[in-house]
Amino acid sequence: MTAPKPQPGILGIAPYKGGEGSVPGVTKVHKLSSNETPLGPSPKAIAAYQKMAGELHRYPDGAADALRNAVARHHGLPAENIVCSNGSDEMISLICAAYCGPGDEVLYSRHGFLMYAIAAMARGATPVAAPEANYTADVDALLKAVTPRTRIVFLANPNNPTGSYISAAELRRLRNGLPAGVLLVIDAAYAEYVSRNDYSNGAELVAERDDTVMTRTFSKIYGLAALRLGWTYAPAGVVDVLNRVRGPFNVNAAAQAAGVAALEDVAWLDKARSHNDAELPRVTAALGKLGLDVLPSVGNFLLIRFPGGAAQSKAADEFLRSQGLILRAMGAYGLAEALRLTIGTAEENDLVIAALGAFMAKQAQRR
Ligand code: PMP
Repeated sequence: MTAPKPQPGILGIAPYKGGEGSVPGVTKVHKLSSNETPLGPSPKAIAAYQKMAGELHRYPDGAADALRNAVARHHGLPAENIVCSNGSDEMISLICAAYCGPGDEVLYSRHGFLMYAIAAMARGATPVAAPEANYTADVDALLKAVTPRTRIVFLANPNNPTGSYISAAELRRLRNGLPAGVLLVIDAAYAEYVSRNDYSNGAELVAERDDTVMTRTFSKIYGLAALRLGWTYAPAGVVDVLNRVRGPFNVNAAAQAAGVAALEDVAWLDKARSHNDAELPRVTAALGKLGLDVLPSVGNFLLIRFPGGAAQSKAADEFLRSQGLILRAMGAYGLAEALRLTIGTAEENDLVIAALGAFMAKQAQRR
């Protein structure tokens, strides 16, 4: 028998591996591997989700009207320019399905989110990584990497896993430097965490143009990762295209209901943001004191680089796991010398600080 042959590019994909949630032989674990919020979702979102249990025989609203209206209200955007998706991951795939194919190039920055390359390759397009400067997207390098084949540029701002961002002015310079017809996707999955005056989620660029979109998620600060819910702000022409390629019921009814409730619970959002505002600098400083190179982050996670390189990072990962602390190894991002830590509860963060303190002390003794 002959196995069916997949489309070109697909067998070149290294499957995405999500953050792990268990360690063999360890009963109490702290999952700090997927940039989830330690606060969980708003209780109002949980209640809205539970209320859907009696409606499971009904198809969801394929247009996700209530959710799009809630997004529009809370973000001051036109509802007709919002498209919802099964996580923002789905939108990354839909954008690639609609706008790139064999022979095309999809551009992103070196340590950009892994799904950009995966989604491009799934469509037979060629992923192209531009170098970064100081673990930050470099607008000049991105523009230099553009060729006549470039169709899409993905920019996570802030970026996962580096935690870095580019300013609104730099974002605009990137957009202005890209050729007409190249779609710029601003992935603002962590936008809610950023409190910098020079940051923009890019919505103003979407409003001004026909060739720029902004993607968002409920998986991070809203704590709804399990439900898979994202949304995109896009110009009318792109909205029309995305509505043609998406599944008719791509967002389930429970996710829609929970998403609306989550948006309305502004106090819960503020609480999650305040928690991160307090813990992120505290953990950054504490880990820095241990001799670790912690990149400054504007997200809810930290990239921790080990002075002893990949071997030390691996040893630290094993040590932390033995204590039930699950971080994310970064080899797939070309950062084998680093682990990514999601900001957890204060207690969890203390456990990580203490464990890494013990690990680094042991390492110093060995020298
Ligand atoms: N973009 C970025 C930058 C991310 O870090 C993630 C989650 N790891 C996503 C998109 C996808 O998020 P989701 O599909 O859960 O919305």
